[in-house]
Amino acid sequence: MKEREALLRKIPAVHELIEALRQRWPRLSEKLVTQAARKATESVREEILKGIRQSISFEEVLKVAETILKQLKRPHLRRVVNATGVVVHTNLGRSILPKEALEAVAEVSAHYSNLEFDLHTGKRGSRYVHVEEILLELTGAEAALVVNNNAAAVLITLNTLAAGKEVIVSRGELVEIGGSFRIPDVMARSGAILREVGATNRTHLRDYEEAINENTALLMKVHKSNYAIVGFTKEVSGAELVALGRRYHLPVIEDLGSGCFVDFSKYGLLKEPTVQEVLATGVDVVTFSGDKLLGGPQAGIILGRREFIAAIRKNPLNRAVRIDKMTLAALEATLRLYRDEKEAIEKIPTLRMITTPSEILKKRARRLKNKLCKLLPPETEIKVVETISRVGGGALPLASPKSYAVALRSPQFSPTRLESSLREANPPVIARIEEDALLFDLRTILPEEEGLISQILAQIFAQKD
Ligand SMILES: *Cc1c(COP(=O)(O)O)cnc(C)c1O
Repeated sequence: MKEREALLRKIPAVHELIEALRQRWPRLSEKLVTQAARKATESVREEILKGIRQSISFEEVLKVAETILKQLKRPHLRRVVNATGVVVHTNLGRSILPKEALEAVAEVSAHYSNLEFDLHTGKRGSRYVHVEEILLELTGAEAALVVNNNAAAVLITLNTLAAGKEVIVSRGELVEIGGSFRIPDVMARSGAILREVGATNRTHLRDYEEAINENTALLMKVHKSNYAIVGFTKEVSGAELVALGRRYHLPVIEDLGSGCFVDFSKYGLLKEPTVQEVLATGVDVVTFSGDKLLGGPQAGIILGRREFIAAIRKNPLNRAVRIDKMTLAALEATLRLYRDEKEAIEKIPTLRMITTPSEILKKRARRLKNKLCKLLPPETEIKVVETISRVGGGALPLASPKSYAVALRSPQFSPTRLESSLREANPPVIARIEEDALLFDLRTILPEEEGLISQILAQIFAQKD
């Protein structure tokens, strides 16, 4: 106890540390330097109290402060390695962009552009034309509009077409997606009045029909993004709803959430209707995200009948939810890749990851395992295991593509300890724990990241404790 007190008394004063740090970084902000000095003394105090630290010198504490300062100076938003196997990982930035999109962003935003300038007439142009034509070409829609994200797309569509009026939705489709986006709440904010019909598991066409009255503005379908209702169920198809809408002269809108242009059943996944198929049923307006299954930047895409899209575009809310030029550049470049489906699958990372056959992932898992076997202590257990990855992003909730992972167990570190060390590495590696092992799922690890993961693990194992 006495020794601890003696050590505690030796912790340098914060102002002395600040002075020393200032000599090395004279132009750094006072706030940052002070924060580093404070944190360093706190961390050293904690180590002494826990009995982890047996000695202390000014130089040692200064070193701690310098390390903390370097961490504070790092960008806050950083790249991470996604080893979770969840492809459209909502917390890890959803879709990663194809190289073509990155190049377009750099080109357009490092220079002036024709964002709102018509190069033919020399007059003011519209920012929406850059992606309009290609969206129509790819989907067969009559008209298109893009906004900041799909939540905004739903909000502005409802506000334009149904403010003050009723929108009929099945009880089985009142979804909540991550980040507290709930259809009933968005509907309330849009000014539209939700008219729920049916039961959670079963909604019939007559339920919609019986709810129609003189105040009805829309029939709405919402894609059950992140869940499925199984068992004794009944759902009204888009086509049936369209037929009903036609009889009563009511438009039908569908929030697809994660819209896709490619039929994933061709690649061994579950069938998810494509945007083209949904439009072909006659739905008047569809909305979906740019950065879920589409694999592009965050955006909300609104497709449908000319008169409705024109009305949505004129809504003053459109200015508040408008898309920026970097997103437009990335979106156009991503959409261009869809002109050739093979190219889209190869070059759009989200599509490539989802469709990679598990046999290829098995080979890559073996390769990563061999690398790790060479670098890590011999007593570490390193195995290739079969696992299940996820599409994520509220898409294909029942799809569970088979995958392969490298599973790590170590007598030296607990899985939770390893998991947290990896999170604090540079770049952070996000892995998952399963059955007391740390799993690195190859579906979401880029081939060029295998070496990085090996190096980071080797560094962690080299630290003694
Ligand atoms: C994801 C999702 C949204 C919201 O889209 P964002 O692009 O995140 O704004 C809306 N509706 C459904 C059904 C979704 O799955």
